[in-house]
Amino acid sequence: MTQSPVLSVTDLVVEIPTRRGVLRPVDSVSFDIAAGEVLGVVGESGAGKSMTGSAVIGLIDPPGRIASGEVRLNGARIDNLRPSEMRRIRGKRIGMVFQDPMASLNPLLTVGDQLEETIQVHLGLRRAEARKRAIAALEEVGIPAADRRIDSYPHEFSGGMRQRVVIALALAAEPEMVIADEPTTALDVSVQAQIVALLRRLCRERGAAVMLITHDMGVIAETADRVAVMYAGRVVEIGPVREVVGAPSHPYSVGLMGATPSTSGDAASERLKQIPGAMPRLLSIPSGCAFHPRCPRAFDTCDREAPPLLRSGSSLAACWLCSPDHQHLVQSATLPEAIE
Ligand code: SF4
Repeated sequence: MTQSPVLSVTDLVVEIPTRRGVLRPVDSVSFDIAAGEVLGVVGESGAGKSMTGSAVIGLIDPPGRIASGEVRLNGARIDNLRPSEMRRIRGKRIGMVFQDPMASLNPLLTVGDQLEETIQVHLGLRRAEARKRAIAALEEVGIPAADRRIDSYPHEFSGGMRQRVVIALALAAEPEMVIADEPTTALDVSVQAQIVALLRRLCRERGAAVMLITHDMGVIAETADRVAVMYAGRVVEIGPVREVVGAPSHPYSVGLMGATPSTSGDAASERLKQIPGAMPRLLSIPSGCAFHPRCPRAFDTCDREAPPLLRSGSSLAACWLCSPDHQHLVQSATLPEAIE
């Protein structure tokens, strides 16, 4: 990456103290996202991907907290800011798109009121100018007759149109980055592709970095430039999308990517079913490589030592099979098409 990243996350650890011990839903996570780049963060439920997103935007529910590590936005630390300072960053410098559009919209205000307020507060424009800008923002996300629909309430839009409004709202203050957490999961399959394409195009045009959190490999394959695969709170593989999706290195990624296509349209959950067992509970993360009880390639080192991220082509993978010391194990067996 030649230019300095918009978002830089280094050795991030999130801890939640409980009566039975301290949970670590995010454990030593590091990644960068450049301007105009989409980083897809993928994994099964409980992998730590949404918690990582929440940590970046300072929305971890107490008693959870960032225990160590750094989050930098265009070079400046944002993980140690006061709640009031972080509130100013959310909405202005970091836009957010969540699974449920109604979580981002006030049902009692028209979409115009909400857009105009964001534009006035963050860009310092007068009312009339903010309204013009709000109409242009709605046109840009593909709302037909935007000059009339601007005075409609959120419930008067379909699910897909509502998510378009949320994207307009997330981008209204010209943020440096956008966090999208399962932005299409609640939508009809027919509109999912349009929404992710829209998000990608608008962010690329504006040079905004995107952290796209999803369990849906189809969304990742169509949208992301790079992919981070998470398992049990850690990044287990990170690299260019064509490599991680097309020729994954980590056995968990292999299980996520390669499975029988589903006719139901929910290919991701079909893929996830291909991996035997379940994501470990945070109180009982297995020793060594956390994936070893489910891994068809596990060997004697795996339950004793946790693998660091090791170079594999253009990617990094936390798997001992990528270590030069274990190449004889790679050569003596072929990676399965999928974990079965
Ligand atoms: Fe499987 Fe061992 Fe690699 Fe973990 S380190 S993914 S258990 S082969």
